[in-house]
Amino acid sequence: MKEILVNDLVFEYPGDEEGTPPVLVLKGLNLQIPHGQFLAVLGHNGSGKSTLAKHFNAILTPTSGDVIVCGINTRDEDRLFDIRQQVGMVFQNPDNQIVATIVEEDVAFALENLGVEPKEIRRRVDEALKEVGMYQYREHAPHQLSGGQKQRVAIAGILAMRPDFIVLDEPTAMLDPRGRQEVLKTIRRLNRDYGTTVVLITHYMDEAVQADRVVVIDGGVILRDGTPKEVFSQVELLKSVGLDVPQVTELVHELRAEGVPLPEDILTEEECFQAIKALFDK
Ligand code: ADP
Repeated sequence: MKEILVNDLVFEYPGDEEGTPPVLVLKGLNLQIPHGQFLAVLGHNGSGKSTLAKHFNAILTPTSGDVIVCGINTRDEDRLFDIRQQVGMVFQNPDNQIVATIVEEDVAFALENLGVEPKEIRRRVDEALKEVGMYQYREHAPHQLSGGQKQRVAIAGILAMRPDFIVLDEPTAMLDPRGRQEVLKTIRRLNRDYGTTVVLITHYMDEAVQADRVVVIDGGVILRDGTPKEVFSQVELLKSVGLDVPQVTELVHELRAEGVPLPEDILTEEECFQAIKALFDK
């Protein structure tokens, strides 16, 4: 079964001998991520998003409860390799993820370590670079690239491994607005055109809005789980846990409070434009 299952996940960072106390972060979290979905995990800083993400490919294992990846329990140390093959991780800082001096060599790096045939490596590297729109940069040096381009190369390196799931932990946090847009577009395309299952950890609302499903984490549990429209229509709730809502949703929320009859689940400027126009067309 190609899915990630999280059952009653509790996780505590242990304390140490120098007196650092243990930190209980995840407090009984349940989640099922089916194959093919674009899921955004949203929560304010320190809410436990990264800690959860690290459970998806067994960088961390539960204090209690289970995480099952494609039928394999992440506690099963003998299957660590299989789990990491199935769940690829992309982190915040592209500079920490790029190891080679030429783009295509970087994308090939993990495959070479796995002993994949050179012809197959060539095929997968070209394919992965095309999927992220970086094929024409294949012979460039990574340090010549922008942040967004580097992050797309890092994503290609993961794609070349052909994982079932790609988990991106705040992949745009260190990028400028243009880089953020590039990476988000790439992520959406991977999911829509190539069927890659995407788990995007983020604290940006405008990114979460683009997912199929949004899970909001707060205080170590799931506070809300639904479509972007279902989740973002709860403006007061999101604000109460330190999250913003998209600006346009906030504007509509305030207009509704003043009695303007607009639908409450507006997420985009285009939807807002159409709804306001409809008022005047009546
Ligand atoms: P988020 O990704 O939502 O910002 P994190 O999962 O990084 O949240 O962190 C959740 C909590 O766990 C925070 O209180 C953080 O200080 C704590 N934490 C994170 N990593 C460690 C660690 N290695 N040791 C102890 N506490 C940690």
